[in-house]
Amino acid sequence: MNDNSSHFKPIILTGDRPTGALHLGHYVGSIQNRLKFQDEYDTCFYMVADVQALTDNADDPQKVRDNVIEVVLDNLAVGVDPTKTHFFIQSMVPEIAELTVFFMNLVTVQQLSHNPTIKTEALQKGYFLQNKFLTADGGEEKNIGHGIPLGFLAYPVSQAADILICKANIVPVGEDQMPVLEQANDIVKKFNATYGREVFPMIKGIVGSTPRLVGTDGSSKASKTLGNTIMLSDSPEEIERKVMSMYTDPNRLKKTDEGQIEGNVVFTYLDIFGTDKKKIEDFKRRYIAGGDDAPGDIEIKKYLIEELRKLLDPIRARREEYAKDIPAIEKILREGNAVARKYAQATMQEVREVMKINYKF
Ligand code: ATP
Ligand code: MG
Repeated sequence: MNDNSSHFKPIILTGDRPTGALHLGHYVGSIQNRLKFQDEYDTCFYMVADVQALTDNADDPQKVRDNVIEVVLDNLAVGVDPTKTHFFIQSMVPEIAELTVFFMNLVTVQQLSHNPTIKTEALQKGYFLQNKFLTADGGEEKNIGHGIPLGFLAYPVSQAADILICKANIVPVGEDQMPVLEQANDIVKKFNATYGREVFPMIKGIVGSTPRLVGTDGSSKASKTLGNTIMLSDSPEEIERKVMSMYTDPNRLKKTDEGQIEGNVVFTYLDIFGTDKKKIEDFKRRYIAGGDDAPGDIEIKKYLIEELRKLLDPIRARREEYAKDIPAIEKILREGNAVARKYAQATMQEVREVMKINYKF
């Protein structure tokens, strides 16, 4: 796998930002792998990235606080199992902040501002970067926008610390996060080389069956911030409303017109979430051919709703059960925090030693 992997046992770490409930993009991008890996590996961590969520939500701490329990509930509902995966909260492991500070010396501002993930997300948020004022809708230079918070620019550094504080080396993520992991691996190489010991493992990012789920509006990524998602906790009515408002082929004005599949969000979602492949192929064939036998948009959407409900109804039911006992959720987090801190303290002892700041007086 990685050049130095043989020295390290596999440790899995994954997480979500508590910026909203989780959606289908998380499910196919990362959650399916969380479920698989917790059965395959002994040591798995799930982190609620509250510090990272605050980097672009500093003015709305209540939103972040409220969503901590929400994202944990979503993970429990899909089957992330607290007996196999340690759940913890980023801010409850203060060693992460300490490690972040040391990692910051190993990264340049230029590396961060050229990071593709940072660039895309800064655009979305209307932050300006690299002395340019960028708009959310495609980069035309205008004299608007907000300065980029330093914490946001540096979140790849803090994410490297989240992972490496537990010496995790396998990280299930959506494709959008891969450049952030590349940055983390640059830090690993630089740290180990600078301080003369292989303290940290190289990290392998593993993307899910659908590395980047498109939004319900057809935009390139379903995201909490963009509000173009079907949530894992959506009610049947919400699922129906969202599917019914999805784009299909804008040039197919009548049901009998020849239709296009590429870029057609309903078919994209059917390919991913539909279980009856024969039925989907038949829909596609008739949709492309047009004529009297062509299926109507409503018929196809109704089938997608049915398939999504098959997946989401049981998740929602389990979520409602877990939500009845919040103290039990807090206990899961308390226990997970304690385990994560043990790992963190051991790592920091080694870090202080190689960095020559392990004062004994
Ligand atoms: P935000 O808009 O606040 O950044 P988000 O929807 O991007 O929220 P995160 O909490 O940032 O969600 O992401 C959690 C994990 O889910 C990450 O590994 C991310 O790559 C993955 N993920 C998020 N959206 C998608 C998507 N549309 N397709 C595949 N994976 C995704
Ligand atoms: Mg994100």
